[in-house]
Amino acid sequence: MKKSILAACMAALVLTACKNKVEDYSERISFVQTQDGTVYGLQDNEGDKKHPADLFDAPDSVIQMLGLEEGIESSIRTYIVCKDNYYVLIDAGLGEMGHGQLLQNMQELGLEPDTIKQILITHMHGDHIGGLLSEGEPVFKQADLCISVDEYEFWNKEENQLQQAVLKAYAGRIVTFNEEDLLPLGIKAIAVPGHTPGHMAFQYGNVMIIGDAVHGWDLQKEHPEYCARFDMDKDSAIQSRKQLLDYCKTNKLFVGGMHMPKAFIQL
Ligand SMILES: [Zn+2]
Repeated sequence: MKKSILAACMAALVLTACKNKVEDYSERISFVQTQDGTVYGLQDNEGDKKHPADLFDAPDSVIQMLGLEEGIESSIRTYIVCKDNYYVLIDAGLGEMGHGQLLQNMQELGLEPDTIKQILITHMHGDHIGGLLSEGEPVFKQADLCISVDEYEFWNKEENQLQQAVLKAYAGRIVTFNEEDLLPLGIKAIAVPGHTPGHMAFQYGNVMIIGDAVHGWDLQKEHPEYCARFDMDKDSAIQSRKQLLDYCKTNKLFVGGMHMPKAFIQL
């Protein structure tokens, strides 16, 4: 084999290896390089976060067996998908209602809010959309806000203040989508209803962002049959969780999620 071909093969091997691991960008930011682009996981909460075990409907015996009596490691996260200087934000975290770190994290990556042209929302709970507003005004003035049809229709009927404020602030820039629709950067939406009616997961290459399909990874990875109190329709949340985790396992995906103990876990 000629030297140059050998060098090319080695470079390809190194590149493949790079694409199959989670790397730290900073204390709060990790990333995975996919075949197409990069997915950054941004920790939104300050300090450590645990969910109390009694947030879940698992029996005490299971909690004890897994050693989770002191709580289940969690977090609040947002994600950014990037290809060729095009940036898509997935969820916006707590925002000012909970000292969300999204803008500081973006600053570390050298990004201004106006760099974001598209925002995908897994669902419209406060810890996912709080960061869209600052003093009632939209933070992301150049971005479309993409919400699934079912999620939009559900919250549009509700009286809830935060959801109404977000829908009003981004009026004219809201794009609704269904599972089969083409999303920016070729991101694939996967319907995982149950936690909320129009809850969505997003796949980009070998990374799956599962939203709130899992709240307590150390419990629910092996026991998807247990729900957190926040799951609105428990039967459908269980079915969605099982199917999604099976799919991620079968395809050996990196799993990211808004309440995962780490930004990415490879299955
Ligand atoms: Zn959440």
